[in-house]
Amino acid sequence: MSTTYYPSYETLKSTSLQLLASADFLRLHWKLTDDDISRAITVLRDPTDETSAQERFSADHPVSKASVTYPPVSSIPVSVEPLDEYAGKWWEAHDLHADKDDPQFRSCFDADGSVVHSCGQDRPGDEGPKLEIVAPLGHFVNVGQYVGAAHPWLRSLDHQLRLVKGEIGSWTLDPHVLLIVRPSQPSPLRIDGHEGWTPSNVDDHWRTLAKTAKNLLERRARENVPEQRQDA
Ligand SMILES: [Zn+2]
Repeated sequence: MSTTYYPSYETLKSTSLQLLASADFLRLHWKLTDDDISRAITVLRDPTDETSAQERFSADHPVSKASVTYPPVSSIPVSVEPLDEYAGKWWEAHDLHADKDDPQFRSCFDADGSVVHSCGQDRPGDEGPKLEIVAPLGHFVNVGQYVGAAHPWLRSLDHQLRLVKGEIGSWTLDPHVLLIVRPSQPSPLRIDGHEGWTPSNVDDHWRTLAKTAKNLLERRARENVPEQRQDA
């Protein structure tokens, strides 16, 4: 029996081949509201119809074994789009109230007088946090593995996400504002804060993803690409 080896996300991204979120990944309605994944994520029954029924996500749901990407990859370095701005936002939030003239706070500044420690926090690095998801040998990264690793990681980044999503002046997004994952690409992930969203904004959001899934499936049918959705 031979083993299939899948390329990594980075390898495929560097080729001319277009790497996309799979139609199965686009089915996820993923809210960052609850540590329990089965409560935080529902699965659209028909990926191309945003009004179709939503099923409870679990490790036993068929979507769990489906590839996150099209074509499938063996590893994905996950970053979060808004968190690449986190260092800059942190500096804006803390630099104004940092007291450069008080000798007891000298260790809070670097040689250039830029604040490096404030309010009990160290200044974050310039690059946002990353999570490397690697499939077992001979497998591709499937939806179950991806959300199992990424969901608790995103929950642990709640404070940072709310800080980058907040506007200057209001500092951070209110803890009651819903954060959702936009599964349009597996990395960098896009996170939306539903502050001020109307029901019609929410409908538009899911309609766009269903439309994307529809276009993707139609294109694959035209290209006559064989279905290879389930991991062994
Ligand atoms: Zn501060």
